[in-house]
Amino acid sequence: MQREEAMVVRERDRYRSLSEQDGLTGLFNRRALDRQLERSIADVQKTGRPLSVIVLDADHFKSYNDSYGHLAGDDILRCLARVMSNNVRREDRCFRYGGEEFVVVLPGKTLEQAASVAERIREVFRRHSASSQRPACTVSVGVAQCCEGDTPASLLARGDEALYRAKDLGRDRVERVTCVPARNATTVID
Ligand code: GH3
Ligand code: MG
Ligand code: MG
Repeated sequence: MQREEAMVVRERDRYRSLSEQDGLTGLFNRRALDRQLERSIADVQKTGRPLSVIVLDADHFKSYNDSYGHLAGDDILRCLARVMSNNVRREDRCFRYGGEEFVVVLPGKTLEQAASVAERIREVFRRHSASSQRPACTVSVGVAQCCEGDTPASLLARGDEALYRAKDLGRDRVERVTCVPARNATTVID
């Protein structure tokens, strides 16, 4: 009986991890991101430890697909996933948020520390995405740190806001957005 129960638990865990994995890149998917952010934000409230997120989006990816084909585009997304995974710590988590957009959750990292990780990913990806047949692909990146009262949605929204700013300012760059907790408004740091 105990063995059967253990088997049921193992099977359940296997299905759960499959349902939280992205098929193309092997990263965690959006469903897993929601669960992770709930857990990480609860941890911030308990321990006061910082928490930051990095939001990345491949630049002009539609035209990359148009020029080099969808399969080459898929390779580039796998390359980005690899670069992300290879440039974060074991306790950080990388997710494919959807399409050509990705998120990293970094427990214990401040905005500044997360921005330097983001800068490294941006720079390494640009180098690794280039080949003898194709030019480099780039990413725009937004960084935000968890503030008092944040929910998963509000934290991601700030990361997105920073990402849009990076796009507006010409792409292939990292931007940070911080919040003013008292008014719960947002301010951009240059
Ligand atoms: P921007 O710099 O503003 O982000 O421009 P963009 O072209 O990257 O943005 P847009 O949203 O117009 O296009 C996203 C493209 O990403 C279009 C879509 O075909 C491509 N894409 C999304 N998911 C995949 C995928 O799994 N594989 C491939 N090859 N392409 C994908
Ligand atoms: Mg894009
Ligand atoms: Mg996009």
